[in-house]
Amino acid sequence: MLLVKVAILSLLHLHQVTVNDVDITPARLKPKLTFSGAIRVRAANNFQRTYHGNLEITAKNNELQLILTTTEEALVAATVSAESPSRALPAALEAQAILARSWIRASRGRHGHYDLCDTTHCQHFKEPTKRGIDAAKATESLLLTWQGKPFAPAYSASCGGRTKTAAAIGWRDDNRYPYYEVNCPICQRDEPQWSRHPSPDQMREIRQNPNKEAIRLKLGRESGWSALPSNNYEIKGDEIVGHGHGHGLGYCQRGGAGLAQLGKTAAEILHHYFPGTDIVSSR
Ligand SMILES: [Zn+2]
Ligand SMILES: [Zn+2]
Repeated sequence: MLLVKVAILSLLHLHQVTVNDVDITPARLKPKLTFSGAIRVRAANNFQRTYHGNLEITAKNNELQLILTTTEEALVAATVSAESPSRALPAALEAQAILARSWIRASRGRHGHYDLCDTTHCQHFKEPTKRGIDAAKATESLLLTWQGKPFAPAYSASCGGRTKTAAAIGWRDDNRYPYYEVNCPICQRDEPQWSRHPSPDQMREIRQNPNKEAIRLKLGRESGWSALPSNNYEIKGDEIVGHGHGHGLGYCQRGGAGLAQLGKTAAEILHHYFPGTDIVSSR
């Protein structure tokens, strides 16, 4: 069983945490504490969650660092639980599970002495739900591969009707899966349009920079990810109108959920959004 090391709660910059009813501060660590099994973590702002695995707590620059060692399958279930629309059917959840496993496998060692973090930099996790656990089990050990290797497949909430190539949003890497433009029948049918009224400064930037993905990321970092929901937009007077949410590369979660409702399997859904890839067992 593959183990993965994840830095948890790193975004909170913790100086105090309660684990299995033990109060922990940097001063009380000598030099580390470890917990295993079902681990109840409580932190500021009423955060409370139970993790499963091994937790090692150390301090760095007077900040607590929590590294959870858990199984890849538990992480897949936690990712599916965090990333799936609440009413998604099993086929869509299974597609997301294969994507999550591939992403985790291809991203090992991303942070050096641990593999991943639990922020948007790497992957957001939730306490696994039964549906997430079922999807992980149903797809156990399956990976999405390209040219014989697992890769970190990109996905977004909704594609706006047609997915993008990596080159179209400025990702250039000849060794990486190139992504393709794929029609998304679900988003083409009925995806709602969004509109925004940016500030005059932001509007000037939007008009001057033809790289819509770069603008989406810049505005997102400055004023939140709803500032410009996607890179699929047009300027209409002092208004921006567009379709889709996210970068529009690879898997479309909205489309995957819709295709599952039309009776498609997880494999059919993934092959639709990732032409040229294979689904293989890593056992
Ligand atoms: Zn990270
Ligand atoms: Zn779509």
